[in-house]
Amino acid sequence: MTSVTLTIAGSDSGGGAGIQADLKTFQELDTFGTSVLTAVTAQNTEGVHAVQPIQTDIVIAQLEAVLDDFTIGAAKTGMLFSSEIIEAVAETIRRYPAFPLVIDPVMIAKGGSSLLQQSAIDALKTHLIPLATLLTPNLPEAEVLTGVSIKTLADMEFAAQHLLKMGCKAVVMKGGHREEASFAEDLFMSAEGDSFLMKSKRIETKDTHGTGCTFAAAITAELSKGQTIADAVITAKHFIQAAIEDGLNLGNGHGPTNHAA
Ligand code: PLP
Repeated sequence: MTSVTLTIAGSDSGGGAGIQADLKTFQELDTFGTSVLTAVTAQNTEGVHAVQPIQTDIVIAQLEAVLDDFTIGAAKTGMLFSSEIIEAVAETIRRYPAFPLVIDPVMIAKGGSSLLQQSAIDALKTHLIPLATLLTPNLPEAEVLTGVSIKTLADMEFAAQHLLKMGCKAVVMKGGHREEASFAEDLFMSAEGDSFLMKSKRIETKDTHGTGCTFAAAITAELSKGQTIADAVITAKHFIQAAIEDGLNLGNGHGPTNHAA
């Protein structure tokens, strides 16, 4: 039977990140993607030009429409923008039978535009992270969520423990922002005590727009097909590595990772 996946995220008109990246990835990995739009961004490969959040009652109406009708194999959240949207999404998800939930704590786009209001960070920690099967922060996001300054692998481990204490079942911390390293190290850690490092060669490319969204969407697709959290993360890591290696030189800025790689 076809697995149904769900993304709760923002639209990227440039098609490389957000809802568009998620749906393309869901499709590529043989799942049926559904979507709940939280915000519209006017965006291309060069940056974000404008952001308009969707009214919270319309966000929730979309979510209820999907959850009332489909059996969700797994879901992910991306750009949620405000504490009001975060609280309403968390409250709604809690009213339905549980499904694996990947939370990509999206905060800032590559060009520096804010995709999450400062006041929403506490809401993310209090309301959403405790519902997460897996949290997928990059290093700057992990630093904001934990207050830990992350320079070394030991710092990553310390911050991951801190995030697990917030109530998520597992964390994969993406090490790509540690620029001094010639390889990227991603750290997986679960509340059950599993942990491992995924090392990959750093790929020199400017075409990495949407990498985080695509990685979290690939994990979500694999979870929906019944993989364990750790196996879904490993499969998705191979997928994103190929997607970055095969990045698309489109537009004048950061081209998108290739969702069909
Ligand atoms: N736009 C939207 C709607 C997003 O959800 C995200 C990331 O999650 C981005 C932009 C950022 O994309 P990137 O930083 O990969 O360019």
